[in-house]
Amino acid sequence: MRSLSIFGATGSVGESAFDLLTRAGGPDAYRTVALTGGRNVARLAEMTRALQAEVAVIADETLLDDLRSALAGTSTRAAAGEAAIDEAARMPSDWSLSAIVGTAGLMPGLRVVERGGTLALANKESLVAAGPMLMGRARASGATILPVDSEHSAIFQCLEDGKLDHVEMVTLTASGGAFRDWPVERLVHATVAEASSHPNWSMGQRITIDSASMFNKALEVIEAHEFFALPNDRIRVLVHPESIVHAMVTYADGATLAHMGPPDMRHAIGHALHWPGRARLPIAALDLAALGSLTFRAPDEERWPALRLAREVVDQGGAAGAVLNAAKEQALDDFMAGRIRFTDMAAAVEHALDIGAGRPHFGDSPNTLDAVLDWDRAARRDAADWAARNRR
Ligand code: NAD
Ligand code: MG
Repeated sequence: MRSLSIFGATGSVGESAFDLLTRAGGPDAYRTVALTGGRNVARLAEMTRALQAEVAVIADETLLDDLRSALAGTSTRAAAGEAAIDEAARMPSDWSLSAIVGTAGLMPGLRVVERGGTLALANKESLVAAGPMLMGRARASGATILPVDSEHSAIFQCLEDGKLDHVEMVTLTASGGAFRDWPVERLVHATVAEASSHPNWSMGQRITIDSASMFNKALEVIEAHEFFALPNDRIRVLVHPESIVHAMVTYADGATLAHMGPPDMRHAIGHALHWPGRARLPIAALDLAALGSLTFRAPDEERWPALRLAREVVDQGGAAGAVLNAAKEQALDDFMAGRIRFTDMAAAVEHALDIGAGRPHFGDSPNTLDAVLDWDRAARRDAADWAARNRR
């Protein structure tokens, strides 16, 4: 029986994975080693009982007693805190899903890669903040990293034998998020509630707001650069409001292969779960006749300055990805808390990148978790300083 672990089980991606696993037979089909959650003890305990996980970890240490009570009568070991997540990620399992949101997702994914495991990677922040380190350690240990971000999974599926031979260009599509049709002048007034509703995808709140600002696509450009080792000019972004084509791969012979499907993360998760094979998944069939037409347009950089920042980060390399990632998280916190406006997020990130570029060793890719976290803390401070000086 295959064994697996899920880091961030209680989130949007984690719930989709749980849905697939329970439909497939749960504990009769898979041996679950570890499940982790942030703060939602009740849901983590339900999932743990359903999958009969060996270990359940809640990130918030103050909730350990609650988790223990919720798991009373089971043979699951309850644990809490970052060290327990670290330990869980070191436990052998055939397949591990990295679905914690933010920089916090880097450590468990790194541990899986270091032990040569198979990492299904939803946490794009890992590749943005520490792509060279993560990919390098995977090469050294023989680990397999499978993309779970829908666009990157789509590209991966359009490659012949997983190779980039003869590939000229990859295209990531973007729905355009909540504000794609707003007049640009109105964006300055966008509220958190308005930014938190996605036209097509149902996702966690943070990534939904990142879709409205295009920081999500900015992260994905960097993610594609790190994962597929492609330069800026071979990664294109196209706004595609219907979210049916997830990505395209253009070959030197003029063929462009497009990956299509309904916007349902269970496809990308299920693909990584069953790779290198395929399995029947509970995904609605595409009805192109009902859709009638698919539309595409070039992204507007005035509306979405995050895309320009991503391009600069890819060109800069070194610690720029770690800085953009952390500054973006801080700017998002500041926007969500009402301290800065929607349109200020890009300015705060750009400020942190400018300050970061002046710090020693900015040109070197951080090669240890501590080095990434040092850049992360500094960039958060720089973005927070900008927010404090430009408070609305
Ligand atoms: P989410 O907010 O719904 O869930 C995040 C999970 O991480 C939860 O289990 C939460 O409890 C846990 N968590 C949060 N902070 C933590 C911390 N400090 N320590 C430990 N655990 C913590 O997020 P999501 O939308 O499921 O996204 C998860 C990851 O997948 C993100 O990196 C996101 O960019 C990526 N992703 C998501 C989607 C999507 O459709 N939701 C698509 C592509 C990629
Ligand atoms: Mg995506």
